Amino acid sequence: MTNPIHNSIARVLEQISGACEQAERSPEDVRLMMVTKTVEAARIREALASGQTLIGENKVQEINAKYDALADVAHDTHLIGHLQTNKIKDVIAQVSCIQSLDRVKLAHKLEQRLEFEDRTIDVLVQVNTSGEASKFGVAPEDTLALIEETLHCERIRIRGLMTIGANTTDESRIRACFRSLREIQAQARDRFADRAQFDELSMGMSGDMALAIAEGSTLVRVGSAIFGAR
Ligand SMILES: *Cc1c(COP(=O)(O)O)cnc(C)c1O
Repeated sequence: MTNPIHNSIARVLEQISGACEQAERSPEDVRLMMVTKTVEAARIREALASGQTLIGENKVQEINAKYDALADVAHDTHLIGHLQTNKIKDVIAQVSCIQSLDRVKLAHKLEQRLEFEDRTIDVLVQVNTSGEASKFGVAPEDTLALIEETLHCERIRIRGLMTIGANTTDESRIRACFRSLREIQAQARDRFADRAQFDELSMGMSGDMALAIAEGSTLVRVGSAIFGAR
């Protein structure tokens, strides 16, 4: 008998390669992040035993709580949820990327702390492409200004952009969010060509990963399709 989590991961990987085929893209260009929020460390260990190494958590406290229990397993953790400036010091040693950079004040406070610790970190700029009030993220029209400001922070390396698709069953509206992120990427590449690549487009979750892949996602963040409903 194979492990149910491993079966789910295999199914998700098949979905990813199917979507890549549809979009005439190479499956190697789309990475899987396993979103482990609310999942206990023992099950995360099982998931990591499949060979997948990238996990995403949306709360600093949860990252801290599971850190020791996962310390002996090779993996990478990204923060994919809102970051309050007073939590920066608690999280930066435990993640390799913060996918939720969404305001200038956060960039400045992050830079300050990184200077103090004499290190650097990768970030994605989170854009609120759906305009939903419940979602964090910089407004599309303010994104280039935030990037400009962040590029002055020498210890922060902008790797690309992140978004969450609209919360609707209307596929065209979800797709429009992902297309909007790709358009902002093109503008950023144009404007800041000599300063960063913006290669990563983190978009797509359990319910909408195929749409995101069709619009150029390089990283899908999948929780419930692997671990079940939360
Ligand atoms: C929870 C979460 C996901 C995963 O959502 P699923 O629908 O469970 O796949 C992806 N991205 C972010 C930012 C999340 O908070």
